[in-house]
Amino acid sequence: MNIPLHNTARALPALCLLIMCLGAFACVRAPYTGRSQLIMMDADEEKALGAAYSKEILQKSSVVTGTSQSRMVERVGKRIAAAAEQPDPEVPKPMEFKWEFHTIKDDEVNAFCLPGGSIFVNTGILNFVQSDDELAAIIGHEVAHALVRHGAERMSQESLSSLLQSVGSLAVGVATQSSGAAELFGSAYGTGMQYGVLLPYSRTHESEADYIGLILAAKAGYDPKAAITFWQRMAAMNKNSNVAEWQSTHPSDETRIAELKKILPEMERYRSGKKQ
Ligand SMILES: [Zn+2]
Repeated sequence: MNIPLHNTARALPALCLLIMCLGAFACVRAPYTGRSQLIMMDADEEKALGAAYSKEILQKSSVVTGTSQSRMVERVGKRIAAAAEQPDPEVPKPMEFKWEFHTIKDDEVNAFCLPGGSIFVNTGILNFVQSDDELAAIIGHEVAHALVRHGAERMSQESLSSLLQSVGSLAVGVATQSSGAAELFGSAYGTGMQYGVLLPYSRTHESEADYIGLILAAKAGYDPKAAITFWQRMAAMNKNSNVAEWQSTHPSDETRIAELKKILPEMERYRSGKKQ
């Protein structure tokens, strides 16, 4: 097939950009799990983004201070953060964090973290928490997301997928001389990336945050079994109501409880200090 020169020339800058990005990939290993991660985002950039969002959330939300619930969040958060500051000696800490723990007056059963270490816990989830040990499982999960830089990893995956999509569309357009075919490739590839690559990764992040979160809770001296009683209580409640968006992006209660039960013996070793 004869490809007109001007089309080939159009594809070159995009291909060069792709190659440059591939060269700039930072392949790092997640602490504790050793999973390799593709992070194309600078730690300072990640922290600045997290700090800006955190400021916005604090301005827009009803922040709770001086209550027994907010004191509990700060108390447990502080101990989990101290445990997060001592990752596995064989795995260096991914970046510097500024740990902050905020309680938000919101009925939604939710807790979330921002890149860099700002953690938010809604009163809606705190109303179901019966002990510091249970809260440690929730805060541990959120601290783990920040510690392992899941936000930056997710953003990197999304920018890479959109870059590949545009380069792919351009290449199909060049090869077939048809902009229709290029569009079709673009939309099919977009759907594939969403359902085939990005979503399973997200589930990986959630299981990883459960695992590392419980390690942090155990290292901080909390009882890892409390995670199971908490999720069992949530599962019983979920049967009657549509609780939270948080639940839809997280593993199902049954899967989560089964996975947590499997890792309990290992967590007890972390708690007793027999494992670092
Ligand atoms: Zn999560």
